[in-house]
Amino acid sequence: MKVQYLIRLDDACPMMDRQQWGRIETILDTYHIKPLVGIIPANNDSGTMLNPPDPDFWDKARQWVAKGWQIALHGYDHICITSCGGINPIWNRSEFAGLSYEKQRAKIKEGIEILNSHQLYPKYFFAPSHTFDEQTIEALRRETDIRIISDTIGRWPYRKDDFWFIPQLGGHCIKMPLAGIYTFCFHPNTMDESAFQDLESFLSKYASQFIGFEDIDLSKYGEKRFLDKLLSKLYFLYRRLKYKNS
Ligand SMILES: [Zn+2]
Repeated sequence: MKVQYLIRLDDACPMMDRQQWGRIETILDTYHIKPLVGIIPANNDSGTMLNPPDPDFWDKARQWVAKGWQIALHGYDHICITSCGGINPIWNRSEFAGLSYEKQRAKIKEGIEILNSHQLYPKYFFAPSHTFDEQTIEALRRETDIRIISDTIGRWPYRKDDFWFIPQLGGHCIKMPLAGIYTFCFHPNTMDESAFQDLESFLSKYASQFIGFEDIDLSKYGEKRFLDKLLSKLYFLYRRLKYKNS
């Protein structure tokens, strides 16, 4: 049992900050790290509209795939329209959780069709604000071949019914003391100088412990372990207390 790390990059879209994304790509390439990139199919969120639309964006995404990066369907338009936390209540806001099955199904269907129309075929999903519910999973099951979700709290991947979950724990790299597979999630659009420096410094020491999402043999993992369920409960209790008055 060892400590392994994964990197996930959120909010790729035609209006992303190309300079910031170029910088993180150079760093990851230097250390031969293959991340999972979440692509917003029909972005309508002003927070991720930082450059004029890039006509070459979809080419760029296909180049990521060609060099072994993985891609994820990252919601539909990235606009949170409910105040639900769903089954992974990191925040009490969601593009999906709390919406009817039919509405979620339409978003997933349109989203995957847009990516497919650009010859992109994601095997992974993660939702804006990390929030989704059982209806989101049902919509993915019905409309896509996606059966892996990057999110939830835990140390190890696990299986629930016909879906696998690869937990996601932090927004920056930290050395983990216990064996597990840990996903660090970055938002290149808004990373500041110190975030880039911290990432490079961590990779210069621990690059050999990073793996790609495709390196995980999911067939080895069964249902969520007892200790991971406990960790998850404690984590959400902590968050409820921390954000109670804010
Ligand atoms: Zn996002």
